[in-house]
Amino acid sequence: MIADLAFKNVFVHTEHGMVKAGVAVKAGKIIAIANDEYLPEAKEVIDGKGQHLLPGGVDPHVHFRDPSKNERETFMTGSMAAAAGGVTTVCEHPISMPPPYSPELLKRRIEIADRQSLVDFAFFGAAGADKLAEIPKVAQESIIAFKTFFHEPPEGRDKEFTGLTMANDAKIFEGFQAVAKTGKILAIHAENNDIISSLIKKLRAQSKVSGINHAESRPPVSEIESVAKVLCLAEATGARVQLCHISTGEAAELVKQAKSRGQEVYLETCPHYLLLNEQALEKFGPYAKCNPPLRKQVIVDELWKYVQDGTVDLIGSDHGPFLTEEKETGYKDIFIAPAGFPGIDLRLPLMLTAVKQGKLTLERVIELISTNPAKIYGLYPQKGAIRIGADADFVLVDLEKEFVVDRKKGYSKSSDIARVYDGWTLTGLPMMTTVRGKIVMKDGIVSEENEAWGQLVSPKI
Ligand SMILES: [Zn+2]
Repeated sequence: MIADLAFKNVFVHTEHGMVKAGVAVKAGKIIAIANDEYLPEAKEVIDGKGQHLLPGGVDPHVHFRDPSKNERETFMTGSMAAAAGGVTTVCEHPISMPPPYSPELLKRRIEIADRQSLVDFAFFGAAGADKLAEIPKVAQESIIAFKTFFHEPPEGRDKEFTGLTMANDAKIFEGFQAVAKTGKILAIHAENNDIISSLIKKLRAQSKVSGINHAESRPPVSEIESVAKVLCLAEATGARVQLCHISTGEAAELVKQAKSRGQEVYLETCPHYLLLNEQALEKFGPYAKCNPPLRKQVIVDELWKYVQDGTVDLIGSDHGPFLTEEKETGYKDIFIAPAGFPGIDLRLPLMLTAVKQGKLTLERVIELISTNPAKIYGLYPQKGAIRIGADADFVLVDLEKEFVVDRKKGYSKSSDIARVYDGWTLTGLPMMTTVRGKIVMKDGIVSEENEAWGQLVSPKI
């Protein structure tokens, strides 16, 4: 048998550890992992030159937004940024116009992704207390989980949040009951709306509307209280829950305790809550605005402990594209600017740099950015690991290569707002990305030729 593609002379990172070996691929699947001399003949052979072959990234948290707001990003441009960063499956969150709270709206989004995405993709469904009847219907579709927000739609963004929010405790309780019945995971943006709106009002009354005031308006307690509520209501309703982008060690501690009681709960954080602190809000103003906000360094240090001890399950980019004009509004009033910034292309290099700095192991990074998301969303073993029979999704990385982040080279349509890491020197560069055996990125170059190569991936559970 002749394979389609083989990587030789690489360090292969399997679930059982690292081996100096090669892999062979046929019809998009991994068919052999063996010493180079025992690999089958292949039509195309890549000499990995002693670099490291990792399972392709599964990004559990991206916002490509299409349909609508295409000026910010499309599945084409977003997936090109994904390929550049070694991400081979994107998990798209439901902020869209309108969000996918019905089977029809979900299918519409899947069709768009299917026509454009270079990498494989999976979708979250929207779970809103105002669309409860739709929840069981959406659960029957190809979604990996539901997502909801505990706040009213942000100012000026009502259409993007229809059917996606649970605005008060009674609605949250009803919403949890509805999702629990479906057996799907409910992912939650957990921040206390009442505390935040009241603080924003007070800060505005004192004309405190600059970057750092964003952090003041959403203090740690607004996350911690909300996480406690999620855990309590999830226990009462039997909902399987995921806490998105957790920014504080105290919230992570609550999740750790819940896990130790046997509760099914998953915890996600993002590179920016580990590698930046609130000083970035002073330096970059609205360009460093995200929700929850960046925290003080002491809180960042605390959060790291939960990455290291295994409490954190997922590291997502929370890739949030916006226009420069939209971000600039925040210089007049930080509370008007949209929250979020791009980051799908840097998730892996940022975490590899943390490995280089001795903050965590490469094995742990692979779990956090590939294997765990695939397992939690039911995409494993098709995704998330280099093993026989799995999809041939790889990222070849040069762990020693230093490079300087240059936002102008980014593939995201919103690269201009990617200011927070611009100019950083990182160690660990993705050299090549393959999706089901097709090379979608080589030496940093992503070709538009592979538009629409990406496929929908659905949970196996
Ligand atoms: Zn998000």
